[in-house]
Amino acid sequence: MPPRMRSSRTVADIGEFGFLSRMLPRLATDSHTIVGPGQDCAVVSSGRRTLLTVDALVEGVHFEPAWLSPRQLGRKSFLVNASDIAAMGGRPRFCVVSVGIRPSYLTRDLSALQAGIVAAAAECGASVVGGNLTRADKLFVSITLLGDAPARLVTRQGAHPGDHIYVTGWLGDAALAVRLLRAGEVTGSGRFHPIRRFREPSARLHAGQSLVDAGIVSAMIDVSDGLIQDLGHICTESGVAATIDPQAIPVSSDYRAMQGPDRSLALTGGEDYELLCTVPERNVKRLRRLQSHLGCPITCVGRIEKGRGVRLAGDPSRVAKAAGFDHFLQR
Ligand SMILES: [Mg+2]
Repeated sequence: MPPRMRSSRTVADIGEFGFLSRMLPRLATDSHTIVGPGQDCAVVSSGRRTLLTVDALVEGVHFEPAWLSPRQLGRKSFLVNASDIAAMGGRPRFCVVSVGIRPSYLTRDLSALQAGIVAAAAECGASVVGGNLTRADKLFVSITLLGDAPARLVTRQGAHPGDHIYVTGWLGDAALAVRLLRAGEVTGSGRFHPIRRFREPSARLHAGQSLVDAGIVSAMIDVSDGLIQDLGHICTESGVAATIDPQAIPVSSDYRAMQGPDRSLALTGGEDYELLCTVPERNVKRLRRLQSHLGCPITCVGRIEKGRGVRLAGDPSRVAKAAGFDHFLQR
């Protein structure tokens, strides 16, 4: 068949099972996969306590098809789950994938999407051990990921008054990217740093593992829905309050160039997939010694206090509104 005809072939042309029969043999598994893809269930064994998480990216909610390539969508779908494993200091191991597509979706795009998931999984030390393909009106990718738990569990519940609040990397880039993409101000390859960060986020797995294994953090969460919102989860779950200094929030040079001193996107924008953690005073020196080995910067942005809610330094009388992303709240 000539290449042009092949590249215009849709999923309706070859069908669900036609696609799966081509895709399944390409999935590599490791020695912990006892039964791999293609059966009713996969059978896996890692011999450790297991972390389990699920997350989906949905067209029209998290992205528009023009905003990222099918391969980038596949990678990102895996990495948003890996970020949850990072927030618990775990190691990704196995995932199952559910993809919804229109019948007119091109098979080459579906192959690229699948390749993106498999590549991101492999980069993080995980295998794709099964999946499901369904017809849908909107493109979506939902991934369920299992990971090895660390020996000592860290949740959102361990923060205490006096703990320092740290965040990895840079915040606000993804929200800035979405604003530009929505306005149609960015097209094509987009070398602009915030656009790259929206399309190709990193899961801070090494940082999460190092912080938990070293026993440095008292609570941790990944910043998927905005700093104020996600810090609010730590405060609620730990029964504490927090004050953050907006000017201390780490932002990229592109963010600073476009937004000046305005930190509103860094405070409330979602999808940065950085780690937000609390560190008891007695561990701060050890964190400083460890920080050059985390694979990313880590910055102190505030303190945990007695009380409830998240406050901004300079405006201590007012509890900051949790203006991060909520799928169902009408604003
Ligand atoms: Mg999370």
